[in-house]
Amino acid sequence: MSDTLAKNMALIEAKLENTGAKLIAVTKTKPVNILQGAYNLGLRQFGENKVQEMVEKYNQLPKDIAWHLIGHLQTNKVKYIAQFVAYIHSVDSLKLLAEINKQAAKNERVINCLLQIYIANEATKFGLNESELFNILESEEIKNFENIKIIGLMGMATNTDDTQIIKNEFQNLKLLFDLVKNKYSTKNINFSELSMGMSSDFELAIEQGSTMVRVGSSLFGNR
Ligand SMILES: *Cc1c(COP(=O)(O)O)cnc(C)c1O
Repeated sequence: MSDTLAKNMALIEAKLENTGAKLIAVTKTKPVNILQGAYNLGLRQFGENKVQEMVEKYNQLPKDIAWHLIGHLQTNKVKYIAQFVAYIHSVDSLKLLAEINKQAAKNERVINCLLQIYIANEATKFGLNESELFNILESEEIKNFENIKIIGLMGMATNTDDTQIIKNEFQNLKLLFDLVKNKYSTKNINFSELSMGMSSDFELAIEQGSTMVRVGSSLFGNR
């Protein structure tokens, strides 16, 4: 079991070598012993998509793990993760950002946030469009958010076998990333991370400039 994990990890890390992209191990639905196995192999960046599941795992595992929330986050649940979450990849409104800032302040922390952009040709995916993104970055409120840092963008490509479609979507997200990176830089806005790519498309994502790939099934097997 952890033999397979070690092999999968080596294969993926070989593909990430010299690309500047970091591996976020997506551990959703996997039991704690699997996460402990991944930890023992040296992984420290874990991604979960549900608040309650993340809290339960956080409580049982070593405290030097950096937890990445990658799934849709409801405002009323921020308080459960504010004490420990390192990165929230799925920020999709100013209201959510305000709540993250408030809960981070209560815990005397600064939480790294990525804004999720809608890039897919699918009605089921969450995220902001470009004008919503600019509205957030140019809002007056954001200047007062001292307990968040906007560090990047996240996107999910269409679930398709057509690599040209996926490539185009990643390329467009990279263009948008470069644009906001150059245009917006303040105390709490500093774009350095582009979170794109999962098991089926992380190689395409890296070619297009991803800095964080979120990989689950290629590491741990199918869910
Ligand atoms: C589940 C999930 C992943 C990982 O998916 P795999 O196909 O298992 O690699 C990546 N990103 C998000 C947002 C997810 O929910």
